[in-house]
Amino acid sequence: MSWEDKVRRVVPYVPGEQPKQKGIIKLNTNENPYPPAPEVERLLREIDYSALRLYPDTDAGELTKELAAYYGLKPSQIFVGVGSDDVLSMAFLTFFNSEKPILFPDITYSFYDVWADLYRIPYKLCPLDDSFRINPDDYKQENGGIIFPNPNAPTGVLESVDMVEEILRANPEVVVIVDEAYIDFGGESCLPLLSRYENLLVVQTFSKSRSMAGMRIGFAMGNEKLIQCLNDVKFSFNSYTMNLPAQVLGAQAVRDKVYFAETCGKIIKTREWVKEELKKLGFDFPDSKANFIFAAHRHMSGGVIFEALRERGIYVRHWDKPRIGNYLRITIGTKEEMERLLEALAEIVAE
Ligand SMILES: *Cc1c(COP(=O)(O)O)cnc(C)c1O
Repeated sequence: MSWEDKVRRVVPYVPGEQPKQKGIIKLNTNENPYPPAPEVERLLREIDYSALRLYPDTDAGELTKELAAYYGLKPSQIFVGVGSDDVLSMAFLTFFNSEKPILFPDITYSFYDVWADLYRIPYKLCPLDDSFRINPDDYKQENGGIIFPNPNAPTGVLESVDMVEEILRANPEVVVIVDEAYIDFGGESCLPLLSRYENLLVVQTFSKSRSMAGMRIGFAMGNEKLIQCLNDVKFSFNSYTMNLPAQVLGAQAVRDKVYFAETCGKIIKTREWVKEELKKLGFDFPDSKANFIFAAHRHMSGGVIFEALRERGIYVRHWDKPRIGNYLRITIGTKEEMERLLEALAEIVAE
């Protein structure tokens, strides 16, 4: 017997690489290629240094107020956290507390099964169909809760608000979490369903569409009662999660609506162009509404292309897993970065 028998053992989530060398093209973690809004930079210089002596506002009042105004909700309907990973993990801990399994797709964000294991929540995978679509009927069995990203990751496939509503209608007795990390790249949010389904939690992040992955800001929107439950758990865990700069700069990023629309628009435009070019090079992919494309070549294996790109200093994401081993998840960078990627791919697939 030793202390080692008493440890909570987990197989951790593996994030994409953050290589240190300069000059590489980094298309592996869905970061935004554009900097945060210019007003955010100005405010960063103006933050009251001496205020860092104090604990930050536990309610993140200013940030919550800006988000509420932007999405047409009450501040009491917003919960903020240290990236949406923090928000999602709190939501797992708060809402998935049943003997029955929670449900999520077999191909999805690879943090969900990690949190389920960590918190000892039973879960059951619902396989996507051959076109990587969710079958809503899979979510009509007994369960302890439901979560899926929309658009899904790493496939980029967007499901309709009607499909989300079909799942909600069949599940009034559990919390349904829709992870909208990529919704700003052309998808239709299911936020309008909040007024009719008090068991719906919509989670979004500043990491992708708002160019602030390094600042760590995520948020959930839902019925006041759900948000209250989340806050009760959060305040039983760590009251001061949102640091002062994150609160101030996050609020400013929300105010900068024009820049937000502009950068999302540029990424969408680049994505649509890259789709056409990838097709010409012999790649197939499900249609993406995210800031990445999940593509497989008709003749060359995903692992081989992944390594060949890496040797050329271009990082994309590849999983050696059933059903998706041939696919590469390619983040949409700037036009110039994508031109370099496409040149490299043309060379590699011609070999
Ligand atoms: C990136 C991502 C997140 C987490 O992002 P944060 O940086 O923690 O906000 C959550 N869900 C999905 C599906 C993602 O791709």
